[in-house]
Amino acid sequence: MFGPQSARQSWKDLFFVYEKVRIGNESSRVQRCEQFLEIFRNEGCKMVEMSCQEHDKFAAGSQFMTHTVGRVLDMLGLESTPINTKGYEALLDLVENTCGDSFDLYYGLFLYNKSALEMVEKLDLAFDALRNELFGRLHQVVRKQLFEKGEKVKTLNGGSYQYGVASALSSNALRSQDIIPYEFIGKISESVDDSSKLKIAIVGFGNFGQFLAKTLAGQGHSVLAYSRTDYRDAAKKLGVSFFSDANDLCEEHPEVILLCTSILSTEKVLKSMPFQRLKRSTLFVDVLSVKEFPMNLFIQHLPPEFDILCTHPMFGPESGKNGWNGLPFVFDKVRIGNDESRVARCNRFLDIFAREGCQMVEMTCAEHDRYAAGSQFITHTMGRVLEKLQLQTTPINTKGYETLLKLVENTSGDSFDLYYGLFMYNVNAMEQLERMDFAFETLKKQLFGRLHGVLRKELFGSSEKLKVLQEKSVKQNGALSSYPESVKIS
Ligand code: NAP
Repeated sequence: MFGPQSARQSWKDLFFVYEKVRIGNESSRVQRCEQFLEIFRNEGCKMVEMSCQEHDKFAAGSQFMTHTVGRVLDMLGLESTPINTKGYEALLDLVENTCGDSFDLYYGLFLYNKSALEMVEKLDLAFDALRNELFGRLHQVVRKQLFEKGEKVKTLNGGSYQYGVASALSSNALRSQDIIPYEFIGKISESVDDSSKLKIAIVGFGNFGQFLAKTLAGQGHSVLAYSRTDYRDAAKKLGVSFFSDANDLCEEHPEVILLCTSILSTEKVLKSMPFQRLKRSTLFVDVLSVKEFPMNLFIQHLPPEFDILCTHPMFGPESGKNGWNGLPFVFDKVRIGNDESRVARCNRFLDIFAREGCQMVEMTCAEHDRYAAGSQFITHTMGRVLEKLQLQTTPINTKGYETLLKLVENTSGDSFDLYYGLFMYNVNAMEQLERMDFAFETLKKQLFGRLHGVLRKELFGSSEKLKVLQEKSVKQNGALSSYPESVKIS
């Protein structure tokens, strides 16, 4: 269950499936067969004896699906970025694993797998269903905008951000000029000393907020949280003080406000914050999966004396569940005052991630969006389409199929709001959706076109042969009478 790509290092631990269909009883025949199997055993393959029927039941479906997804992704021309998520790396791996295989191999899986056609249909339906979910919601939002809050639409032209439409505001003009570059010099240790402890208030204590809180509290920082939902119990378990009123939270004077709200609700939540209750020097940080949008919101709505740090941990509760070591953490010091204490505060915050072994990547929000928005949207779309297919693990998963399963696992825990946010706030999302659709349609055409070609050849190829035979017979007998009516060629 491997090939030149997936097993280019070694065959160790990869499945080798076999069935002894007919091996004679003589010891020389039995031995010959064993010797052949020994070749794979010696390479460290996991030897699985099962009937060909069983193999086809387990493998054919998963293999066909893996190759189909790999081929669709290959047509999209995905490229590695300096800030790949684990999910995106999985997609790149999948393309690499399948693109070396011939179309004949893929076509063989299609033709000789009884359920292949059904799978193509299922994939089609799943993709359609996802698009409908996206467009249905888009439709609802636009209707609401147009009919219920007509006056709000006017703000679209007033420099505010509405559903992915960028304001004309020049963010660079508002950045602090003398940013001192970040450098992690601290030693990686279990806990932080008192002087580097921060009072951090998490706003939006959902899935991701709680995931981050665990590490922040674990490092000894004082963590507070506020959310519209009552998360008192979850907070208590994490050693976090929970506030159900933003006024009370701000009166605690946190040094850092860490915004972990959904992309869609961020503007509303930010505007509702009682800034006047905070200290004049407060650092605002966000972790949204898109970056230019929150950066512009911060610059527009935050009082000028507040510092701004935009970040994106390129991992989540699933991909980062076993630690953050080596995972990319993107940040942009959008506006950090020159004051030594402000610079130090920002660096202390960044140290939280550096300490965990994150790969610290400083880049502008615009750069981040160029690299990440596209790859993220494709990763999440593929993950969500595959989730709808309810793929099951098999006793003989290929590496490629494992990648598909991992992709589903990595994205299925995320809320639809997160995915919808990536769609709405990524200017290229619609185009990418269309490209995926086009790639899938092209692949279907390739499959069905070839099928059609084979059938034509069968039909007309055999009729050509018959024609020749008939002509021969006519020449010999002067009549067509020896052929039954059904095979007569007009
Ligand atoms: P999410 O669905 O994107 O956001 C959930 C959070 O948004 C919850 O705290 C929720 O508060 C709040 N929220 C949603 N609608 C709201 C509204 N109308 N008013 C007030 N608050 C509202 O899921 P998430 O995974 O927790 O992500 C949070 C942020 O982290 C997002 O911006 C996401 O892009 C970013 N991020 C996520 C990941 C990840 O892997 N999950 C990775 C990197 C970055 P309540 O729970 O109180 O309703």
